[in-house]
Amino acid sequence: YLSCKYIIFNDINEKKLNLKKIELSKNDKLRLEKGNIHEKNYLKELKKKYKKVIDIKNSDLSKEEKISKTIQAMKEGWEVIHGGYLKRDKWRGEFDFLIINKNLKSKFGDYSYEVIDTKNSNKPKPDHIIQLGMYTYMLEGTQGVLPKKFTIVLKDLVREDVQVNQVNEFFKTHRENYEKFASNGIDKTKPEKCSFCQICSWQEECEKIWIKKDNLNQIGGLTKVHLKKLLELKIDTATKLSKQVSTKILKGFRKEISHKLITQAKLRKEYEKTNVPVYQSNPNNLNGIKGFNLLPEPSACDLYFDIESVEDHVYPGGLEYLFGIYYFENDKEKFKPLWAHNKKEEKKNIIEFFEFTKSHFKKYPSSKIYHYGSYEITALLKLTSFHKVKGIEYDHYLNLDKFVNLLNVNTQGLFISENSYSLKNVEKFYDFKREGDVQKGDVSQEYYSEWIETQDQKFLDEIESYNKQDCRSTYELHKWLLKIKPSDTSWFIPQKKDSEMELRDWEVDMMKYQDKVKKSKIKDPKIKQLMFDIIGFYTRENKPDWREFFERRTRSDEELIDDPECIGNMKSNGKPTPDKKSLIYSYKFEDQDFKLRKSKKTVIANNQDIEQKDYAGKIIDIDYKKKEVLLKRGTSQGILPAILSIGPNKPIPNTKLISNTYKFIDTLIGKENKYKALNDFLDKKHPRIKGIKTGDKIISSNEFHKEIPKIISNLDNSYLYIQGPPGTGKTHQAANAIIELLKQNNKIAITGLSHKVIHNLLQRIEDMTSEKQFEFEGYKKGNLEDEDTVFNGEYIKTYGKDSVFMDALKE
Ligand code: SF4
Repeated sequence: YLSCKYIIFNDINEKKLNLKKIELSKNDKLRLEKGNIHEKNYLKELKKKYKKVIDIKNSDLSKEEKISKTIQAMKEGWEVIHGGYLKRDKWRGEFDFLIINKNLKSKFGDYSYEVIDTKNSNKPKPDHIIQLGMYTYMLEGTQGVLPKKFTIVLKDLVREDVQVNQVNEFFKTHRENYEKFASNGIDKTKPEKCSFCQICSWQEECEKIWIKKDNLNQIGGLTKVHLKKLLELKIDTATKLSKQVSTKILKGFRKEISHKLITQAKLRKEYEKTNVPVYQSNPNNLNGIKGFNLLPEPSACDLYFDIESVEDHVYPGGLEYLFGIYYFENDKEKFKPLWAHNKKEEKKNIIEFFEFTKSHFKKYPSSKIYHYGSYEITALLKLTSFHKVKGIEYDHYLNLDKFVNLLNVNTQGLFISENSYSLKNVEKFYDFKREGDVQKGDVSQEYYSEWIETQDQKFLDEIESYNKQDCRSTYELHKWLLKIKPSDTSWFIPQKKDSEMELRDWEVDMMKYQDKVKKSKIKDPKIKQLMFDIIGFYTRENKPDWREFFERRTRSDEELIDDPECIGNMKSNGKPTPDKKSLIYSYKFEDQDFKLRKSKKTVIANNQDIEQKDYAGKIIDIDYKKKEVLLKRGTSQGILPAILSIGPNKPIPNTKLISNTYKFIDTLIGKENKYKALNDFLDKKHPRIKGIKTGDKIISSNEFHKEIPKIISNLDNSYLYIQGPPGTGKTHQAANAIIELLKQNNKIAITGLSHKVIHNLLQRIEDMTSEKQFEFEGYKKGNLEDEDTVFNGEYIKTYGKDSVFMDALKE
């Protein structure tokens, strides 16, 4: 219902209207199977912990009988009820687990129940919360009391507790809306294309309706925002749109977008009449680094690249199991498949991919790697980071513009009669014929699952043939694009040449330290490996942000509306007003989700104008009602354009963390044993605590608020590791320990992975300090111009300069 209301219509009318669901694929079945195994594993865990476990799921009872049995089991006080069934009003549902809570009474006695549900995913999703909220609602109806929390058991049996009072209002609104919808809204719904359609089993039924009803979504490149605006203009069919004059600017649209949509609608209608696919080059993108101008001059031996992968439910952690490289050398067709059936082989493939391409570029310096869509680049980034190999080479390829994404050329350079720019759709233009069973990427995943089960080589052969066809299709597409390239477009010229791509200082340092560690006499191989791997960690961490930063430069203002990191396609409200040495700009934005907030420094997300500075100014206000943003930018920076898309500033290099990592590695190699606590921590040695024999129990009672501060003050240049799931009081204990240690005149340093985490702890310390009637002075490091990094309480204040902290430490 939340993803698409029409699913409910289809579900209810399945028999009446003889609707056909797409059959579950092997892949879907596998996913469901993995989910069931996950549930069974958790049941085993619960059986180890609890004695009274009742299994209702695997009984032959009817739903009504299951409801009675569940209530009976609750009355009898079973500790765990597996597969119970409950109802409330018109709602009913099957629960993975109901678990006893002896701290909350219910109408059954001195106990009540809570809901636990197993989800074979890495993190909880909104629909999990809604589902469990629904269960909790039914449970409240049965036991007469609302549970305080519910639990989602994720992959690897990681538990995520959700406090019911934090989500209850959200859930209640959705429940009430659904009830209204179910009583009188179902027949009024219409199918609307959304992200869920790709995995929805009603896809074929909806597609039939869209074609029959001449839906606007049959026009390639049409987004949800476009659709909304067109419906406001009462243009509700592709035919109506196609009847508009191409030069007309539709109200609320930019000239280029208006032109694109009307032209695509005309092309679509032409195609429907003749069944011959038609295209036109986009006259609005003949200049700038867009469309056909993204194509570099072809080289003697370009490479065409495609990756096949499987998701986590097929191979733990996912696997990029086939790299295909296709090219022509001396007029001879060549295809290089690199197979990996495990993580070790995947790492080998990454190394081989870069070594092969590097030697290829030596022979053919101007050749490029062509691919379709951003998957290949993202996967390479993920793999170089995960396996910690070839990261420098990957960066260099990006800097040298070695990768060419032909999808960008298509979407920006061409108007097409197809309803999508996918490779399979675009193939119609260059008449590419596919062979074999595997025609779609997700089928190749299924074939790979089949191979895992059967080890039958025929499945791998099919996949390899499919991959080769994808590479070959990219090659044919490139050839076709070169043929139709408008004469008034230019060739893309990479800004950097191979010869200029020397190692940068930080890369030299990285390689120097990797070499140092390799040759060092660090005895423990695990620590040696850890040190080797940690080199480059902070650079790797920043890479996805850098990539997004550069990706955005090729996006249009319209496309940036869909990027939650940006505010896209804003329109100036008129001349900026002067404010001392700055100018204040006011922009209006359209409906969109964005994360940027007041006080953030921003850049022009898609700046391609070399005269224009990247920096777009600091957000000094956002009026969400009027949909207006105020930006402050120095006068010396020039004038901002009338149409503007802003995005987050460049990632901040972690230079201090990097140099401190090197410093630590030096002490480790030099056997200085300077950072004893850290060494012990890495060695997984027991903490050294005065008065406690190594290996003995550390805590002697459950009075944590006394025990923890006592142990910390007795630490002998060592560490203490405190672990607990969410909600068990780690922040509370940390705040308490800090105050107790401050009372003993200690200085406490706090570090964390985000300002948010630190602020949370600081607030707890502030609250507790007032309760404990104690005073102290605290310093928080932050950027005073960025309110997300600032914390100012009664005792703790934020400072920007390092010297304040150094002086405080000297005191
Ligand atoms: S295919 Fe799309 S529109 Fe149709 S029911 Fe499924 S999600 Fe809804």
